[in-house]
Amino acid sequence: MSEIPRFRKGKGCSGAPVLKQRGQHEVFCGLTGIIWLHRKMQDAFFLVVGSRTCAHLLQSAAGVMIFAEPRFGTAILEEQDLAGLTDSHEALDAEVQRLLSRRPDIRRLFLVGSCPSEVIKLDLARAARRLSAQYAPHVQVMNYSGSGIETTFTQGEDACLAAMVAELSATETRELVVAGALPDVVEDQMLDLLDNLGIGPVRVLPARAADKAPTVGRNTVFALVQPFLGDTHAAFVRRGARHIPAPFPFGEEGTTLWLAAIAREFGVSPERFEEVTAAPRARARRAVMSISEGLRDKRVFFFPDSQLEIPLARFLTRECGMEALEVGAPYIYRSVVEQDIELLPPGPRLSEGQDVEKQLDRAFEARPDLTVCGLGLANPLEACGLTTKWAIELVFTPVHFYEQAGDLAALFARPLRRKGLLRLEAAE
Ligand code: SF4
Repeated sequence: MSEIPRFRKGKGCSGAPVLKQRGQHEVFCGLTGIIWLHRKMQDAFFLVVGSRTCAHLLQSAAGVMIFAEPRFGTAILEEQDLAGLTDSHEALDAEVQRLLSRRPDIRRLFLVGSCPSEVIKLDLARAARRLSAQYAPHVQVMNYSGSGIETTFTQGEDACLAAMVAELSATETRELVVAGALPDVVEDQMLDLLDNLGIGPVRVLPARAADKAPTVGRNTVFALVQPFLGDTHAAFVRRGARHIPAPFPFGEEGTTLWLAAIAREFGVSPERFEEVTAAPRARARRAVMSISEGLRDKRVFFFPDSQLEIPLARFLTRECGMEALEVGAPYIYRSVVEQDIELLPPGPRLSEGQDVEKQLDRAFEARPDLTVCGLGLANPLEACGLTTKWAIELVFTPVHFYEQAGDLAALFARPLRRKGLLRLEAAE
């Protein structure tokens, strides 16, 4: 290898017009992020300040707690709170006091805002500052919004990470921070790859434990592993850190270009890069190839939901041979996904935001082979004869980096295979 693989600006969709729509949209709220964040951050507690609806959403989505002690809960705002008849701050302080005295293992406490707490303008930032001062240094109290007002479900993680970036200790050390929650096994694979490339020190956000949290300053460089981290990106930049732009590490190509961008930043030689990545790249290519047979020439339509849509469309079109008809994303953060947009072959309609009735009309007219959408739309679309993939599964399943490239392709191939089998059965 004479040089490290380089992102090459192609024709792509960079100059393509973006259809911006504002209307009824079908998404989950940011509280959903707690489901994977509480598993990742083992000394954290997420205290949602919300209604019974918020508590039900969390309880049913997160299922039965498998831990000895739960890592999330809801401080329910009662009618008197909503009517402004009680001092909610006092009640919240008492709730936090009860929780922390019972749970000395909690080192990071997140006060998570919701629609009701925002509607009554409960100032959780003030509460977090007050409680942080009270419980420091053992417990750090932070706040973010998980509200469903004008948000989408992955923004909960973005808001949580952005809140943490604002509180990180300052440093002058040159460090790489990788931001975005990954399953532990995938995170370990990534750290191994970076370590084998000789890149370090590397810190991750969110860290599994409070004392492993990164520090930040003007010598920090950061890479993102999730395309929905627009606010986190902005928070790092505010702290003086510099982003390493790259396509996202989905599939063989995305992973190689993501690693290559970091390798170049840290002066890794082309030979070393080849030595470390050749075998997993070949494995990933083989795995994708064996699965993508069923995806080739199939047409895919993305409804906006997870904010992973653009990098996934890039993966499906360039590595699996699919054709993208529409790639809808709730928000398009150009500073974060521009390289994926540039790699996306021209053709699909790019859309930002949603007017669901109009988008449904476009989907019915296009009759895609596969529709990637939120849970609320999947069943009705299946009933209308469209084959669907739940976007939320892509956030809960390990899909990043080389070893998961085949699994990522398989997630999209499975519904098409199932549809094929059902047709066969019906024909017999
Ligand atoms: S935050 Fe808002 S959208 Fe989410 S569960 Fe609570 S009330 Fe519903």
